[in-house]
Amino acid sequence: MLKGVKVRKVYEDEIEEPVRQKKVRIMDDQLHKQRIKEKGLQFDDLEDDDQQPDHQKTRQEKNKENQKKGEMLFQQRQQQKAISECEFCLSNEKLSQYYILSQSNNVMLVLPKQRFYNAYTHLLIVPMEHVQCIRDVEDETYEEIRNYQKCLVGAFDKANLECIFYENAFKFKYVPHAIIECVAIPYKISKEANLNLYFKQGMDELDGFWSTHKKIIEIQKNKGGIRKQIPKGFAYFYVDFSLKLGYAHVIENENNFSSNFAREILASILSVEKSNVLSPKPRTEQEAKQENDAFQLIWKSYDWTRMLKQ
Ligand SMILES: [Zn+2]
Repeated sequence: MLKGVKVRKVYEDEIEEPVRQKKVRIMDDQLHKQRIKEKGLQFDDLEDDDQQPDHQKTRQEKNKENQKKGEMLFQQRQQQKAISECEFCLSNEKLSQYYILSQSNNVMLVLPKQRFYNAYTHLLIVPMEHVQCIRDVEDETYEEIRNYQKCLVGAFDKANLECIFYENAFKFKYVPHAIIECVAIPYKISKEANLNLYFKQGMDELDGFWSTHKKIIEIQKNKGGIRKQIPKGFAYFYVDFSLKLGYAHVIENENNFSSNFAREILASILSVEKSNVLSPKPRTEQEAKQENDAFQLIWKSYDWTRMLKQ
């Protein structure tokens, strides 16, 4: 009970109605002011929260808390929406079986629905769980991703093709589904174009002069790879050349980065029209089926998932 406020007096029967209403108002004001004095709160924001455990909190703390709650709710909704619309979450049944080339317990190998590089082989390594970047996947999933990468390098090496793997890990606020893209390109073209230097230079220029992070991180297996070398929570771009050499770049300003960064570099050295990258043609189900059949012929002797079925 608050001190110094005589509640009873206001409700005495003998007081005339208008006077009584005025007294009640005065009473309310007094009560309000008294509580403000005790709580140190601003007049306008005082709530009837005596019973709540957080009644001692300041207005600033409460605002902060409400803002946090609001943000969390917003994020949850964004996440639910992104997952329910995601083309890579199998539960949404948006990915026809023809596009799925291979599947392990936690990862799948997929043909993209769009054709960025004409006839060059372009595949996606996709964790089945809706995680936002490869850095954040569980150990088991990471193991399986590495198995796919190693087997792809082996399979394409036979045909004198180098596997370029890259990941655009950014725009986390849109809750994307993580993917590693893989493009198989002739070693000859890669060598002649000095492809790794090409990428390195491009990455070096991404955040300009003001970058506070080390511009290029050389990804090394003995340092834990991207999962250890990229700080958690940061957006990044990662590129790897047949698992022999990998570079990553922390994206400080997302406005300076385009999801077509790697695609444009690769298109230019493969002499693919830039328009192909910017507005790629769709790959029909029929085409996917044919390409899937053709891929199985190359893949069958490297398919590590056979081990899982034994
Ligand atoms: Zn998803």
